Amino acid sequence: MRKLESREIIVASHNAGKVREINDLIAPYGFSAKSAAELNLPEPAETGTTFEENAAIKALAAAHATGLPALSDDSGLCVKALDDQPGVYTADWAEKENGTGRDFMMAMKKVHQAMEATSSPDKHAYFVAVLCLAWPDGHVEYFRGETHGDIVWPPRGEAGFGYDPVFMPEGYDRTFGEMTAEEKHGWQPGQTDDGLSHRARAFALFSRNCLSKSD
Ligand code: IMP
Repeated sequence: MRKLESREIIVASHNAGKVREINDLIAPYGFSAKSAAELNLPEPAETGTTFEENAAIKALAAAHATGLPALSDDSGLCVKALDDQPGVYTADWAEKENGTGRDFMMAMKKVHQAMEATSSPDKHAYFVAVLCLAWPDGHVEYFRGETHGDIVWPPRGEAGFGYDPVFMPEGYDRTFGEMTAEEKHGWQPGQTDDGLSHRARAFALFSRNCLSKSD
């Protein structure tokens, strides 16, 4: 696996919640990271059908545009009773009908209503995060993290972003929306387990495999 030599990278995302979490995770390694949004890079269309494909589209676009390594995150919520939907379309379920942005309260309601419509008692869901690190020469590496848990209704908590208020990880009695960022990630550099959030787990793989030992 290719190691990351540069300490200057692009966070290939326009999603403020993700950029904040990725910055929290990379900060202890002394990275200086600029986001695609800060650099006014265009947001490529996510035309893939897997998290890996969409992560690669975003990371390669930013790496080619800047000449720097770029780290992207493609993530989503997979609900068992809905055959793993919304999956790669998790952000799309929050698109407002008049095209004026995203409404996550509406998206969480859609998930709840779709689950009710199945009449299945199964509340199991999992978050997936695939980080893709792309270099300007086209080389890519992938790191996948998952966190399993249950969908709860009504939403609980104001912390985090996206679907956090309806997701309660296995073994906890609070949703991600009721946790501080530290609790949600549950991971610090040098720690031997991989933390709690899907993003922290993907990041643990990235740091273990791609950052050289002296990091
Ligand atoms: P995409 O990766 O840009 O396609 O968007 C993924 C969507 O999944 C985001 O818009 C969020 O709504 C949702 N998502 C991803 N990670 C999290 C998380 O950690 N908490 C809550 N929602 C998340």
